[in-house]
Amino acid sequence: MEPLHAADPPGADLVRRDLAVVWHPCTQMKDHEALPPVAIRRGRGVWLEGVDGRRYLDAIGSWWVSVFGHCHPEIVAAVQRQAAELEHVMLAGFTHGPAVELAERLVRLAPAGLTRCFYADSGSAAIEIAVKMSFHHWKNVGRPKKRRFVTLANSYHGETLGALAVGSVDLYKEIYRPLLMDVLTAPSPDCYEREPGESWEAHSRRRFEPMRALLETHADEIAAVIVEPLVQCAGQMRMYHPVYLQLLRETCDRLGVHLIADEIAVGMGRTGTTFACEHAGVRPDFLCLSKGLTGGWLPASVVLTTEAVYEAFYDDYVKRTAFLHSHTYSGNPLACAAGLATLDLLERPATRARIVSLGEHLERATAPLAEHPNVTEVRRTGTLVAIEFARDRRTREPFPWVERRGLRAYRHALSRGVLLRPIGNVLYYVPPYVITDAEVDFLVEVTRECLDVACA
Ligand SMILES: *Cc1c(COP(=O)(O)O)cnc(C)c1O
Repeated sequence: MEPLHAADPPGADLVRRDLAVVWHPCTQMKDHEALPPVAIRRGRGVWLEGVDGRRYLDAIGSWWVSVFGHCHPEIVAAVQRQAAELEHVMLAGFTHGPAVELAERLVRLAPAGLTRCFYADSGSAAIEIAVKMSFHHWKNVGRPKKRRFVTLANSYHGETLGALAVGSVDLYKEIYRPLLMDVLTAPSPDCYEREPGESWEAHSRRRFEPMRALLETHADEIAAVIVEPLVQCAGQMRMYHPVYLQLLRETCDRLGVHLIADEIAVGMGRTGTTFACEHAGVRPDFLCLSKGLTGGWLPASVVLTTEAVYEAFYDDYVKRTAFLHSHTYSGNPLACAAGLATLDLLERPATRARIVSLGEHLERATAPLAEHPNVTEVRRTGTLVAIEFARDRRTREPFPWVERRGLRAYRHALSRGVLLRPIGNVLYYVPPYVITDAEVDFLVEVTRECLDVACA
């Protein structure tokens, strides 16, 4: 196969230097012998521009962070303004306007009762915080036996050891299992697995029963249940019905178990509402946000929690109940300024309306893909769309993973100027909300070709 970058195009030097020193995330570096990394020099809206001048439509918002596209002028201006005033100050013992204002606005936007914001610098760090806080809360209130966590099969919560432990995507987890704390795992409410003719709601309800049993049996030793509301993103974009979250909230309340909502990927409008939990009308005890939080500008995350949790830590220093966790860049002013500008955009009525109409257009435009001879499902939640393909459409027998069919799709998409990065046998879009209907139509056209190439 012809290399994507012929002998010595502009940027070849950058790629050579890269491969001499940079070790890339989530990558078998040997793959770059056949397919070198793509060197990018700028981004505008949904488009990335390579150093060789080629353009790529960023259909996945660069790992789901770019909610308003690249270099949105309002976020650029906000970060520039902030950079000229204060780039950083430590958040222990000090504070600053952007950190306070962002926390105030998040508390106003989040489900009622989430009144306290703890900042960190990545999604995984937010998960570590929620896990530690839940455990520590129960210890502080005299329930030290509550120290176990319940997770869903096929869930993903990040890569650090605590976050990896509460996730269950084997590809990332299996090798490190000896290093990880033991968790309880309940079946996923994933509606791809529903019976023929069964509704999403009926399936998600049915799948709640083993979770209920698990919680009833182990409530005395369980600190929290952690879930990705509505979409298990890294878990092949599998989706489920909000009723599952309602049942989970009721049961957690009844049994005295915390609910951790990992909205790192699905928060910030992705599912159609600001936060995915709103679809179920539930308030988690911990709400974790990152990715789109800063519009894709800067690494930042936040954990929102309740007054009840906060109060369990609030006492004289010598009582040793404080949460002494910290990350150096917690509450970074540039990141908070980017977050505020992102919320300005998100809260605009025109944006709200566009998120709805974009979801509708995505549905219309992708519907015909369901007729493709290898496509087993086209599913959508808000502006998140997944197209799953299989070797055999009827039995849904997947292509063996060693065939790396998704990689073929990835390469074809790049050759057509589209950034699609399939997960296993699933092609998906997490587009910036500024994508136009015409750009969606182009994306779907390329996706159809990708399916042909991947399934040939
Ligand atoms: C990306 C992601 C994480 C991890 O965030 P990082 O910033 O990569 O550490 C955790 N949970 C979910 C649902 C994610 O999508």
